[in-house]
Parts: sequence; structure tokens; C-alpha cells
Amino acid sequence: MSPIYSAKHLDIASFSAHAGQLTGAQDLLDFERLALEAQGDVEQPQVHWSAQASQKTGVAGEPVCWLHLQVQACMPKVCQRCLELAQMDLRVNRAFRFVESESIAEVQDEQCDEDLLVLSHDFNLLELIEDELLMEIPSIPMHEACPKSLKMVTQDSSFADLSGEKHHPFAQLARLKDDKAS
Ligand SMILES: [Zn+2]
Repeated sequence: MSPIYSAKHLDIASFSAHAGQLTGAQDLLDFERLALEAQGDVEQPQVHWSAQASQKTGVAGEPVCWLHLQVQACMPKVCQRCLELAQMDLRVNRAFRFVESESIAEVQDEQCDEDLLVLSHDFNLLELIEDELLMEIPSIPMHEACPKSLKMVTQDSSFADLSGEKHHPFAQLARLKDDKAS
């Protein structure tokens, strides 16, 4: 029987040797740093995640630990176009390989596509989930399509007054013709 794992205290070597799997759903606001990023009223947004570990064999026959992480969460942010609240759909789908030390990670990081993490007997998966979600938050959050049209701006009377007179496309056309004729 495989051991029972805690997402906050994972023994990575054991977790991947047993091809361990963990899934969870928890309040976004339980993540301290994510809660700071959330704007406006949050209707109990949930972070859904699943982690699947596996063990592969390295070039020297040594066991190599992998973790595949998938996360989905909604983050309420103020849209920078219409200033209404927008639900940002954040998704993470990433593979991590564990190495022995920070220095190995630094050397290998540029040579591989996967992300590298340092092996630990007490790995905090929730912290990784939070780190990954924080990186997915757009720097300029915006609706894909804003719910309100931006009519308000063009209907604003001061906008028309700026030019001092109303736009007369035909009058302008006539003027152009006159210019050409002269
Ligand atoms: Zn918007």
C-alpha cells in the first residue's frame, strides 16, 4: 500500500517511487500571496489542482523524480480597459524534474525544457502551486471582451465640444474638391 501523502510535507523520493497522486481544491484566499492579488468581492473562488509523480531512470541508472502539475483557478482582477471586475482564468500545466541540489539545477536549467526543483523530504506542494499561479496573473488584466461597450466615452458631450464644431464630412469633402480645383 502506498503511504498517505500530505501536500504540505511531501517526501518527493517516496512520492515518485510510488507514482503518487494528489488532488485538491481549496479557497483561493487560503493562499496568502494569492489573496493579496485578488481584487473586489471574491465569491469563494477555488483553486483546483492535481499532481502526478513518476520515477524514471537517469543516464547512470539512477532514479529521477518527476512531478506533473495541473492547476486551474479564477482570480478576480479589475479590468484595465473597462475598470469592471474580470475573472482571470489561470491555468498551469507543467512538468518538473527534481535534482540533488541548487547548483545542479543552475547548471542544467538552461539545457532542458522542463523546470527543475531541488529534491526534498519535506516539499511544500501548495507553495509550488501558489508560485506557479502568481506567475500566470497577467500584468495588465483585461476581459477578453468587456461586458459594457465603451459607448459612454463617445456619448460624452465634452468629447464633441473639444473640436469646437461638429464634424461635417461632406463639408470637408467639398473643401478638398475646391482645393484640387484651384
Ligand atoms: Zn473589461
